[in-house]
Amino acid sequence: MPALPVLLYPDRRLKTVCDEVDDFEKASEIIGDLLDTMDAGPPRTVGIAAPQIGAMTRVALVHTDRNPKYTGGNGFLAMINPVIIEREGEQYFREGCLSIPDYTANIQRAAKIKVAFFDTRGEQFILNSEGFESVVIQHELDHLDGILFLDRVHNIKTDLFRRRQQ
Ligand SMILES: [Zn+2]
Repeated sequence: MPALPVLLYPDRRLKTVCDEVDDFEKASEIIGDLLDTMDAGPPRTVGIAAPQIGAMTRVALVHTDRNPKYTGGNGFLAMINPVIIEREGEQYFREGCLSIPDYTANIQRAAKIKVAFFDTRGEQFILNSEGFESVVIQHELDHLDGILFLDRVHNIKTDLFRRRQQ
């Protein structure tokens, strides 16, 4: 499957709440498309969510090992109908997004989470995550509810940054 174009802010589909997956075969195809699209993106792309390629369904990929600074997480995660079931503490990270290429921002997230999701065979997993990986999971799951990191910026003057031109 080919890499697909990534929708860019302010595309309205990025502000839309996605539907639960009930067709797991279709979800597997979307996971393939997301993986190809992530592979074609910037080399340190560590996550992507289905609505970013216009698939309005609750599927997200997270793979923090793609950034050598942040290895040691749960490895490659292809999450169907993911839900954060526990949150603890807080942390700040500078976040970016394939759909908002010109900006980064300091965003407050939970420090530790427990996330439940299904794989393509319909098996349920529950994982603990903390640090950078938990930030990426929280960021990608926000996409499934039509929430972008821009929506979580507390102070545009001090927390939002324009990326340097490459
Ligand atoms: Zn994003």
